[in-house]
Amino acid sequence: VKWWDHVAPAPKDPIAGLTEAFLADTSPYKINLGVGAYRDDEGKPVVLQCVREANAKIAGCDFLETIPHAVSTKLVEESIKLVYGNDSDFVEETKVAGVQALSGTGACRLFAEFQKKFCPKSQIYFPDPTWSCHHKIWREAHIPQRTFRYYDLCSKGLNFTAMMDDIKNAPDGSFFLLHPCAHNPTGVDPTEEQWREISHLFKVKNHFPFFDMAYQGLASGDLDRDAQVIRKFVEDGHLVGCAQSFAKNMGLYGQRIGCLSVLCADAKQAAAIKSQMQQIAGAMYGSPPVLGPLLVSAILSDPDIKALWATEVKAMTERIRRMRINLRESLEKLDSPLNWEQITNQVGMFFFSGLTPDQVDCLRREFHIFMNPDGRISMAGVTTGNVNYLANALHEVTR
Ligand code: PMP
Repeated sequence: VKWWDHVAPAPKDPIAGLTEAFLADTSPYKINLGVGAYRDDEGKPVVLQCVREANAKIAGCDFLETIPHAVSTKLVEESIKLVYGNDSDFVEETKVAGVQALSGTGACRLFAEFQKKFCPKSQIYFPDPTWSCHHKIWREAHIPQRTFRYYDLCSKGLNFTAMMDDIKNAPDGSFFLLHPCAHNPTGVDPTEEQWREISHLFKVKNHFPFFDMAYQGLASGDLDRDAQVIRKFVEDGHLVGCAQSFAKNMGLYGQRIGCLSVLCADAKQAAAIKSQMQQIAGAMYGSPPVLGPLLVSAILSDPDIKALWATEVKAMTERIRRMRINLRESLEKLDSPLNWEQITNQVGMFFFSGLTPDQVDCLRREFHIFMNPDGRISMAGVTTGNVNYLANALHEVTR
């Protein structure tokens, strides 16, 4: 019997080949601006000191004997405090349905499955553009996707009027995915006042805000400030959903640690929703990992280690901010006729450069500089040592 003859290869992921091509390039000048992961000023991956301390703290503990459930509960407790605030009524009154998830991707996927199961006729609205995996995740959960206008090519900023129009014109009670800070890939976030208006319009339209929080701390350098948008929505009376990831802000990418939470009307509803989410998760992958979440809990529950983490998040953000300033200044020194102020206006890990696919290609061929075809530059790949080389290359391909 020929079981699998009809299976053709999946379409190639344009980003997946990027790292391979980068590794194969033998130029000493090569730069990888594709990876959305933090790198230090030498271009090296970083293990945070807070992670090392947490690791030492849990070393030798009996985690292999621990019931995964206990680890999970602790992780969820700490994660929801981090996003909604220590003194949130929802946290105190156990009106949050929270479950451990396989990093941000797993949290999004779990929510999409939950949405499909309990709101089978619903759709999801994404900002245009958004992290490309959002489309894949909700597609695999069989939820129809729509987009709302977000980024304005001309101004390289937010198209707020169009965004509000699209939110207004969506059917009442629609699901919307929002990036609460450090929008990926554009680096463009609404202002505080704009968020206030968005929250108000969501109320009027009775939309569901689902926040994908993959970069808490890495937009402003401050963990609480980056959660402000979500807390403001909650204050305005929204029962929000949130996917959290510790991949970027703790540098724990490979450990797949995350949390999915949904605010509920009361504790009974929270318990019901949590049990349903656990059931969906259980049928997909059994129970989630234990060691990584134990690390995260050790960081979040120890005031000293948590304070150390906060300073390290700030330092990562500041290094990236410095590189934004250096890159912009270098381009201006080269008398580039273009306006590069968006490098410093945009926040988070990425600069959405507006380079065309041809220019991106040219950077790779002639300058050994690798980035996503959409022109997204991971600022984490920029260092004191390569910023001038990069500025020069950008100038050459855009002049
Ligand atoms: N959401 C967004 C917007 C992201 O940029 C990312 C990371 N690229 C994620 C979610 C999830 O990443 P992870 O699954 O590694 O936590």
